[in-house]
Amino acid sequence: MKLRFAPSPTGLLHVGNARVALANWLHARRHGGAFILRLDDTDLERSKPEFAAAIEEDLRWLGLDWDERVAQSDRLDRYAAAAETLKAAGRLYPCFETEEELAYKRERRRREGKPPLYDREALRMTPDQIERAIANGKQPYWRFKLAPRTVAWHDLVLGERSVKLSAISDPVLVRADGSPLYTFTSVVDDLDMAITHVIRGEDHVTNTGIQLDLFAALGGNVMHLNFAHLPLLTDQDGGALSKRLGSISLRHLRKDGIEPAALAGYLAALGTSADPVPGMPTALAQHWDITRVSHATARFDTRQMLALNRRVLHDAPFDAMRDRLPEGADEAWWLAIRGNLDLLREARPWFDIVRGTIVPPVQEGEGDFLAAALAALPPEPWDGTTWGAWTGALKASTGRKGKALFLPLRLALTGEEHGPDLATLLPLIGRDRAALRLRLSSGA
Ligand code: GLU
Repeated sequence: MKLRFAPSPTGLLHVGNARVALANWLHARRHGGAFILRLDDTDLERSKPEFAAAIEEDLRWLGLDWDERVAQSDRLDRYAAAAETLKAAGRLYPCFETEEELAYKRERRRREGKPPLYDREALRMTPDQIERAIANGKQPYWRFKLAPRTVAWHDLVLGERSVKLSAISDPVLVRADGSPLYTFTSVVDDLDMAITHVIRGEDHVTNTGIQLDLFAALGGNVMHLNFAHLPLLTDQDGGALSKRLGSISLRHLRKDGIEPAALAGYLAALGTSADPVPGMPTALAQHWDITRVSHATARFDTRQMLALNRRVLHDAPFDAMRDRLPEGADEAWWLAIRGNLDLLREARPWFDIVRGTIVPPVQEGEGDFLAAALAALPPEPWDGTTWGAWTGALKASTGRKGKALFLPLRLALTGEEHGPDLATLLPLIGRDRAALRLRLSSGA
């Protein structure tokens, strides 16, 4: 078994691409197969090495690795040779029509009530006419002559699918400047690299029909190829993902503080009936089953992804996070605050609160209560029972209880109305900081 992820390095990796990459990787790893990273970079104008490097970095961040890395730009000879094979078989023919001519022809067909298909006029040119066109300085581009048949396959996600080739225009495989197009290079590579499974987005279904015909024309055994098309993603309201979330790159999510285990766990369960569980790809692979992906569109719900992110942080051991925590962070602090985080960057303020300096707000009208609280503050050493003993004594002496008792104390000690359990936090904050903050907050 051999799979590939074939991004075009013309931009950053988005959640939709990441889902495809992950599905291919999980499928390969689940079944002991190989996984290739193939850069579809024959569009020389739009492909950039910076994007290729960024894609690789983002895939690694997500926890993916690859057994081989291939760039299509290194294989141009191979595509040229394959083009000659097709020409010799009469399946690749030169065309000279300009964009304007083609647009005109499409318009005319439409007016006649016919589908706007390419009419194969170039196929009827005589060798003489072709020679003359070239002598007149015209460079041909090349179309693949589709076979007059319907191509059918059993899709691992969508079930039985077919594409009627007579309803499609013969695709251009080679541009006038000699550069090959994706439809073509992809098939040459899948054949040469003995790819067994192609997992990609549902937007490629028509391509699959064309590419299976091309595959056969190049002498490939289509029985060795399996396809799975993942239904498109929509946002949580059911709208096309391309508009909003579609533009969310992995970079962006990473910068916003999404953990790779949250994104990977979420994407792996997307479109299946399984509950998403956070996990890095290696842990997710054992449960992967492509046939559990539904053929209905899948909703990408950021709230669900955030819920997974929270779970990742709440369970994260100190050693796993150490490098990304504020300088001087210690395990007791991390264990005390991690359960309060949605995103890792929220840890920083809690570091200042617990281990550093903050200025709490002055609480008008609470001066006497906070002065009493300061006076009742027990001597150190403090432990997990200190908070209970201190607030118990205050309750008895002031008659306050519930919110009236706890909120002014929390605000004074942390500057926040909500946060981690104060029984855990108080001994970490320590007596000096606590005393100073009670005084500042009382307005004294
Ligand atoms: N470069 C193509 C894309 O990103 C690859 C599609 C395929 O997997 O064949 O859509």
